[in-house]
Amino acid sequence: MTQASGRTVALPRTLTVRDLSEALNVSSVDIIKELMKRGVMAAINQSIDHDVAASVAQALGFDVEQMEAPAAATADRRAEGEGEGDLQSRPPVVTVMGHVDHGKTSLLDAIRQTNVTAQEVGAITQHIGAYQVEVNGHKITFIDTPGHEAFTALRARGASVTDIAVLVVAADDSIMPQTIEAIDHAKAANVPIIVAINKIDLPAANPEKVKQDLVQHGLVIEEFGGEVIAVPVSAKTHEGLDNLLEHIQLVAEISELKANPDCQPEGVIIESEMNPSRGPLATVIVQRGTLRVGDIVIAGASWGKVKAMFDEKGARVTAAGPATPVEIMGLNTVPRPGDPFAVVDEEREAREAAEERERETAEAGRAVSLEAISGDIAAGRVKDLNIIIKGDTNGSVEAIRSSLERLGAVDVRVNVIHSAVGNVSESDVMLATASRAIVVAFNVKVDPGARRISETERIDIRNYQIIYELIEDVEKAVKGLMEPVTAEVIDGHAEVRAIFRVRGGRVAGCMITDGLVRRNSLARVLRQGEMIHESRVSSLRRFQEDVREVATGLECGIGVEKFDSFSEGDVIEAFHIEQKG
Ligand code: GDP
Repeated sequence: MTQASGRTVALPRTLTVRDLSEALNVSSVDIIKELMKRGVMAAINQSIDHDVAASVAQALGFDVEQMEAPAAATADRRAEGEGEGDLQSRPPVVTVMGHVDHGKTSLLDAIRQTNVTAQEVGAITQHIGAYQVEVNGHKITFIDTPGHEAFTALRARGASVTDIAVLVVAADDSIMPQTIEAIDHAKAANVPIIVAINKIDLPAANPEKVKQDLVQHGLVIEEFGGEVIAVPVSAKTHEGLDNLLEHIQLVAEISELKANPDCQPEGVIIESEMNPSRGPLATVIVQRGTLRVGDIVIAGASWGKVKAMFDEKGARVTAAGPATPVEIMGLNTVPRPGDPFAVVDEEREAREAAEERERETAEAGRAVSLEAISGDIAAGRVKDLNIIIKGDTNGSVEAIRSSLERLGAVDVRVNVIHSAVGNVSESDVMLATASRAIVVAFNVKVDPGARRISETERIDIRNYQIIYELIEDVEKAVKGLMEPVTAEVIDGHAEVRAIFRVRGGRVAGCMITDGLVRRNSLARVLRQGEMIHESRVSSLRRFQEDVREVATGLECGIGVEKFDSFSEGDVIEAFHIEQKG
């Protein structure tokens, strides 16, 4: 901490944390810490009382001169720093990560226990996926499912809900493989990390070694001149927990987390289940606005009117503002974790939006492959190539990593977002999905679960036995020179002449104008040459009979999956994808 004893500073009547930091030439982090010691929670742009500012300055070794009478200062304080529309500070949402058995669950339990108020002691807490604690009058929301896998699974579904990652490292074990994974996952998501060095009650605890090992993995803690906060704790004895919570608040303050509690509510589903007596239940974290009982919500492909809401103690609540987790009852189906939710005005709107979302998810997102990225690079659409490396030895992984990192061209950057020894795991593929990265596997296998997810999420896992070939492929991709391995082949066209209503939707009465159309073929609907829908042929009939294919010059009825708004003159284009080479 910068100490400038004997220096004199003149402080204005009102000033912000930033002003004070500049006036004293002391980092805003140190200022905010001093403020917290005085029970003042202030963000960097917030104005602070002259007296408080003076006391902070004195504590940091300054003599304070008053530029104006402090008495007047308080009067103006309210008005300052509130010119940012309707945004208000909100609690941080925290996820706990770390290696197995390092104490993530114990830490979450310990935090929950130490922060229940007197009348709640003995109250049975329910697992709804998240809980809130209150420290110095400010709330912190903890996601109750620890681990970077859950964190990245939510991200892979498009949800970014976590503001701060607490990395638990056991003081007797130090950095382990999943610690490194957790660091990489948090970094890939751009989430600030606070390290909780746990189990300091153990005789074998060696917090100093943990700190040094952290530096090896790019987390330079404050003591060594870096920015990362490391707090020694024991989930067993509860030592250091308050300190940890205060530092979480500190990082939250610096991040200036804000949300408007009065706008149309939105948020993310973090857990869901089918309850035998209550029906579909979903825990949501509200991100903006205030969710209320009676609101009509849409969550992924589910919708419904909120009949009741419960907090983590099972108590009914009627309203939930930003960063608050609540379990909601009233949805028609069980939404998926990671699904976004929003409040709409009318049930009809909710139903339609839910159906639309279902269609969107059916039409899977774009594939992530080296060829596709190479094409995007060639077209100037992307400037980053994110890569995950899994290899058989430390030596091979490091060799690949350093060669790949050197490949970046002037306008394309190669980011190795994670590299480790071992098979390609589910968590690797999730990270690839969340960060649109490709996975390169050198002399290692792909776990069956990882293979399954890579197929549904369409993530490219490339296997190599020769480092040179691997480097060469990535180099080609960086230069935008990689040939696509698949090509689309058009099979035929059908013109829509009439539209028939059938059970479950509409089919188009068509004439095949060229080529042929096969049942289950990939298909798109073109209207005046513009594509309006892409899926598959769901039914193909001639004279009420299901047929396999229909050729040029013949009439037939065609149904297209998840589409029934045909119009006369539309063209159905049938196509398939062919592997090249
Ligand atoms: P997780 O796999 O990271 O969730 O770890 P757990 O919370 O399940 O803890 C693993 C083991 O470490 C359990 O036996 C805990 O009782 C123990 N443990 C967790 N925190 C502490 C601690 O601060 N001190 C001691 N001595 N043991 C701990």
